[in-house]
Amino acid sequence: MILVFGKTGQVGRELAQLPDVHCLGREEADLTDAASIRDAIRKFSPAAIINAAAYTAVDAAETDGELAHQINAHAPKIMAQEAQSLNIPLVHISTDYVFDGTGTTPWTPDDGTAPLNIYGQSKRDGELAVLEACDHAVVLRTSWVFSSHGQNFVKTMVRLAQSKSSLDIVSDQIGGPTSARAIAYACMRIVKSPLPSTSERIYHFAGAPDVSWAEFAEEIFAQLGKEIAITAIKSEDFPTAAQRPLNSRLDCSGILADFDVQRPHWKSDLKFTLDELKAGTV
Ligand code: NDP
Repeated sequence: MILVFGKTGQVGRELAQLPDVHCLGREEADLTDAASIRDAIRKFSPAAIINAAAYTAVDAAETDGELAHQINAHAPKIMAQEAQSLNIPLVHISTDYVFDGTGTTPWTPDDGTAPLNIYGQSKRDGELAVLEACDHAVVLRTSWVFSSHGQNFVKTMVRLAQSKSSLDIVSDQIGGPTSARAIAYACMRIVKSPLPSTSERIYHFAGAPDVSWAEFAEEIFAQLGKEIAITAIKSEDFPTAAQRPLNSRLDCSGILADFDVQRPHWKSDLKFTLDELKAGTV
C-alpha cells in the first residue's frame, strides 16, 4: 500500500482515486506534530510514501514563515527518516518557486536555487531535508497546479468569467500549467519504478507548452466559450505580498529519460477539468 499525505489537496484527491493508495488527512496526521507523522507511518507500514501535503498559501507564508517551515521542511524530514528506516521510497513534491526566475531557458534540476519568497525557501529546505535523510527519496518539482478541487487559477478564471467582460492578467511570468491528475500519475510511476543509481534524485514535471498566465487565461476562456478581453500586464502592476519568479520553465527531460514520463498536454487536461466542473461532479 502507498501512503499519501495531503488527502484533501489538489494532488492528494487525485492520488486517492488510484488503487492501492491510502490517503491521510490532517485528523490522522497533523504535519505540525512530528509524533503523529511517525505514528501514522508506523501504523500503516506502507510500501512507499508520497508527500502531497504542504503549506501552499504563498502570500500568507510571508508573515507565517515558521508554520510554512514546519509543514514544508520539518514534516517532510520526519517522513524521510521513517522512509529510510523502513527502506521504502518517498516521493516529495516541490515547486518551481525554488528558482529566482531569471533568464528564459528551462531550469534543470542541477541549476542553482534562489527562492524569491518564504514559501519557496521553505520548500527548498524541505527538498534538502528529505534528500539528506533518505537515500531513496525523490523530489518532484512541478508548477502551476490545477484541478477541479481546491483553489487554483483555472477555478478563479471560471468564477470571474461569470461576472467580468474584461480582465487584467499578468503576462511576464512563464511556466507550465500542470494538472493535479498528471502529477498523481507521475508520482505513482516513480514509486513503482526502481530508482536509477546515477540519479541526483530531483526531477522536474510540468505541463506543455509553457505559457504566460495571460495565455493560460485566454485558453480557459476559449474552452469555456466566453469572450473576455484580456489586458496583458506586468507582475509589477499586480503587487502581491510574495514575489514570484518570471521564468518558471522546467526542463522535464530527466523524468522522461529515467521513468518514461512525458510532459502532459495541459490543454487537454484543462478540457477534462472544465468538463468536471461543468458536470458538477466535484
Ligand atoms: P493543496 O494546497 O491543494 O493541499 C495541501 C494539502 O496539505 C491539504 O491536504 C492540506 O490539508 C494539507 N496540509 C496543510 N497543512 C497541514 C497540516 N498541518 N497537517 C496535515 N495536512 C496539512 O496543495 P496542492 O495539491 O496544490 O500541492 C501539492 C504539492 O505541489 C505541494 O507540495 C505544493 O507545494 C506543490 N506545488 C503546488 C503548486 C500549486 O500551484 N498549487 C505549484 C507547484 C508546486 P487541509 O485541507 O486540512 O488544510
